[in-house]
Amino acid sequence: MNLLSLEGKTCLITGSSQGIGFQTANLFVQHGAKVFISSRDENSLNLALEKIKSNYPKSEIFAIKCDVSIESEVKLLFQTIFKTHKSSLDVLVANAGILESSLIGMVTKEHLNKIFSINTFGYIYCCQYASRLMMRNSMGGSIIGISSIMGLSGYSGYSIYSGSKAAIIGVTKSLSKELAPNKIRVNCLSPGYIQTNMTEGLPDKNKEEVMKMIGMGRFGNPQDVANAVLFLASDMSSYITGEVLSIDGGMAK
Ligand code: NDP
Repeated sequence: MNLLSLEGKTCLITGSSQGIGFQTANLFVQHGAKVFISSRDENSLNLALEKIKSNYPKSEIFAIKCDVSIESEVKLLFQTIFKTHKSSLDVLVANAGILESSLIGMVTKEHLNKIFSINTFGYIYCCQYASRLMMRNSMGGSIIGISSIMGLSGYSGYSIYSGSKAAIIGVTKSLSKELAPNKIRVNCLSPGYIQTNMTEGLPDKNKEEVMKMIGMGRFGNPQDVANAVLFLASDMSSYITGEVLSIDGGMAK
């Protein structure tokens, strides 16, 4: 019996047109899941869909546009999965997120609203609708949030992003307790520095500083994170809930 198999499972991955979410979608399809990918920009989302379909022609994969910071769009996303596609939901990977720096003296209300609306409120909206859908399923489900090493230990100049990611940990821990009787597991990952478009534009000075903090001496890649997501999505982790799993190559915390 292959406990890492996702055969027969329906999975939604938010923020999956590129980076960690895209890699996770590929891995999930490879492991037999029916996958829904989702993000805001329709062109890049459709491009991602075509790439995955050409990698895995027999895959069951669909794309639904959604901005996770807008509650009505999140509601519609889950309604589309349930009503249009007649699907239940076994796995939610609430991966959508943005990174922006901000020195505390320069923080504006707009910046606060933007970061928390996407990273934190978006996570909560998705958990809310996903758990309702999973409760219809006697087998329960698995919710995986994507926090960050910055949510655990912070980083100078990123207090607002760090706060938005720390909140994910608190929400995850409480939900794991609330939803355990419904067989819904809730865990989150805390990636360190992962090479994606999100980190590509960071100043070289920051990259060098971070590299010195990584015990294994290399940055992470999306596959490193996707592998851990697969573990938490699959029955291999069937008795694990309320955990924060670091994927950071031994980065100093
Ligand atoms: P990318 O910037 O490469 O990808 C982000 C994805 O999220 C894109 O598909 C983007 O598409 C989507 N997205 C952004 N905002 C929204 C929104 N409001 N609604 C729906 N989708 C959205 O980032 P990564 O792959 O690097 O990051 C993925 C997650 O991992 C994020 O939550 C990030 O904070 C977290 N993380 C990343 C780390 C890293 O080092 N890369 C480290 C720790 C955590 P579109 O813009 O079209 O919506």
